[in-house]
Amino acid sequence: MILILGGGLAGMSTAMHLGKREHLVLEAATMPGGLCRTRDVDGFLFDYTGHLLHLRDERIIRLVDELLPDAFETIERDARIRTHGVTLPFPFQANLHGLPREVVSDCLVGFSESLARPIPDDPETSFEEWSLAVFGRGISDTFMLPYNCKLFRRRPAEMTADWVSWAVPKPTLREVVDGALGVRNEGMGYNSTFRYPRQGGIGVLPEAVAARVEHMRLGQRVTEVDLDRRVVRTEGGESHDYDELVMTLPLPAFLRMARGGPQGLADKAARLDWSVVACWNLGIERPGVADGAHWIYFPDADTPFYRAGVPTNFSAGVAPPGTSSLYVEFGLPRGQRPDRERLERAARAALEREGILLPDDKILASDWIVIDPGYVIFDAERQRVMDEVVPQLEEFGVHLIGRYGAWTYSYMERALLDGLEVARRLEQGVGHGV
Ligand SMILES: Cc1cc2nc3c(=O)[nH]c(=O)nc-3n(C[C@H](O)[C@H](O)[C@H](O)COP(=O)(O)OP(=O)(O)OC[C@H]3O[C@@H](n4cnc5c(N)ncnc54)[C@H](O)[C@@H]3O)c2cc1C
Repeated sequence: MILILGGGLAGMSTAMHLGKREHLVLEAATMPGGLCRTRDVDGFLFDYTGHLLHLRDERIIRLVDELLPDAFETIERDARIRTHGVTLPFPFQANLHGLPREVVSDCLVGFSESLARPIPDDPETSFEEWSLAVFGRGISDTFMLPYNCKLFRRRPAEMTADWVSWAVPKPTLREVVDGALGVRNEGMGYNSTFRYPRQGGIGVLPEAVAARVEHMRLGQRVTEVDLDRRVVRTEGGESHDYDELVMTLPLPAFLRMARGGPQGLADKAARLDWSVVACWNLGIERPGVADGAHWIYFPDADTPFYRAGVPTNFSAGVAPPGTSSLYVEFGLPRGQRPDRERLERAARAALEREGILLPDDKILASDWIVIDPGYVIFDAERQRVMDEVVPQLEEFGVHLIGRYGAWTYSYMERALLDGLEVARRLEQGVGHGV
């Protein structure tokens, strides 16, 4: 028996790819899909903040096309950055034109100085050191460091860079200089286009995957895992034996609910850190909010949120005709809950100041989503804990996958791939109990 903890994309993809091997998914919520669900609030379809599909792997492209032929539109990204009173195209480092002259000058000088510096490949290099080596002082101080500090709620000098260094190439001097002179560089980066469903929000993807999963129990919150006896217990008092366990729940919670097995798992959980994402969703009685932008980054300290997005600018199918939907995302440190009233007041003032909302805009829907854990914090401790627990747990037939099971910076395609890959490994009998 292969027991799969969590019915998000990673857990369901595992089940879907296991075929005839005996398996069961246990999911705490009454709906499958985890972070990829879509909520209907008064006719507005809200995702768990922006959920845009970037596909690179041929196997997943084939899978998505087969699950949902023609459901997705491919959209060219319109991402912007609002800082120092101006709006720039994303990515920042290649679109400096329009910033105050002294900021452009600092960015250019800092970038030219960085060209002589090697990019560190030590995994314990701090995010701050990495940013300075790749972008130089001006770009780091104006965008990279303040934005990521707002997002992760940790000092960049305390984080490592391994979550991002694979995705962000060093721009060329020509790209940075051209961008400073006003030559558009918008397509740069790994995600210049994305896919999004024409109708129904991103939730249509987990729904299609769930339709292929035969053995899933919803409303089953796992509370204890006996690693020695290979038994999982749920809140409702059920016990499930297993030979192999595929684990997609947040790793710190799993390490705390584990009994037996390797020593000191709860202590290891205490060494992991994360941030919380609090998202305020709004339905607005006006079309075309934010002038076509898909999402906007806000690195400056005087804006309380780090990002705002406008789903109706990339999918008309997520809101009633003649309206717009908007989400604003706040980063909070672990353990903190959003003070909704205060944040709504501050966000509304900032959105009006930035011209995204108008003073007489009527709010038709308002909804909060708190994602906890939201972002895994990459620091030296995380790497040490993972180096210890991954092989230890494999010895006990536990396979860590998914964004929070593998405790990583991950995305929908990766979740689907994690499920496919672990299913193939288990089919080939690579797990210890098989
Ligand atoms: C703010 C934000 C924005 C994102 N934007 C994008 C994006 O634009 N594009 C992209 O590709 N990816 C994006 N992602 C990442 C994407 O959401 C995830 O990588 C993917 O959905 C993770 O799937 P998963 O199955 O690993 O985890 P989850 O979706 O978290 O699934 C885990 C499941 O476990 C269940 N569970 C938890 N505890 C228990 C328990 N005790 N017992 C039983 N079940 C339990 C949960 O209910 C959940 O269903 C974003 C993530 C965040 C936080």
